[in-house]
Amino acid sequence: MKIAVLTGAGISAESGIPTFRGPSGIWKTFKPEELATPQAFERDPKLVWEWYDWRRSIIKKAKPNKGHILIAHLEQLFEDFLLITQNVDGLHQKAGSKKVVELHGNIWRVLCTACGKKYYNYQVPLEEIPPRCKYCNGLLRPDVVWFGESLPKKEWETALEFVSSCSMLLVVGTSGVVYPAASLPFLAKQKGAKIVEINPEDTPISQIAHIRIRKKASEGMEEFLKML
Ligand code: NAD
Ligand code: ZN
Repeated sequence: MKIAVLTGAGISAESGIPTFRGPSGIWKTFKPEELATPQAFERDPKLVWEWYDWRRSIIKKAKPNKGHILIAHLEQLFEDFLLITQNVDGLHQKAGSKKVVELHGNIWRVLCTACGKKYYNYQVPLEEIPPRCKYCNGLLRPDVVWFGESLPKKEWETALEFVSSCSMLLVVGTSGVVYPAASLPFLAKQKGAKIVEINPEDTPISQIAHIRIRKKASEGMEEFLKML
């Protein structure tokens, strides 16, 4: 069986990383849709980086939870497997997942707006905000996909190709409203794949799911593995 998994912020909620829709203290006065955009960065790179610095400080302390670990285990059970994540936190890899496509980039990677170089920077808190490129001193941005930006070409093509020919797509902890990632379950269904959704709440994907597991990711993954 060829199996794909699509994850969103909900898989990392039990690791203490807030989703974009959950509560998150002082930063709740800002909507992610207002901060995670190229326009916001152009207007106020310092504010955007302060938000990322805060998110990086939470992610740095976070550990993979049972949901991440069981997805890494699932990979061991199937030869033909792909994990497609919208998360930027790197927790799937920490849990042992190997076949991972990061659709929205990685919060630990920086991209220079001047010379275009990309590299990893794990400093928390950042020494200087906004941070500067170690090669050319240009302004750095997080190497993540912001609202209104296109997805990295290679990653998106890999995801599309795999999902078009898989026999099952497991969707865990995603609101199903962030496009184009949210189109993947619809494409898979159209091509004949079984859709399984794990989410404590209803989403637009629930309507096309063959199986809905209305639980948190950790318990939902346990239930899914028992069903196999
Ligand atoms: P979202 O914040 O829009 O939605 C989260 C979904 O997870 C909701 O449907 C919610 O019902 C569900 N959920 C909440 N707790 C859960 C749990 N314990 N188990 C299972 N599901 C749970 O997230 P999204 O759909 O990923 O889209 C928003 C964008 O936010 C993505 O592009 C992603 O890159 C970014 N994001 C990433 C992180 C991260 O890397 N950890 C965190 C926040 C946002
Ligand atoms: Zn540079």
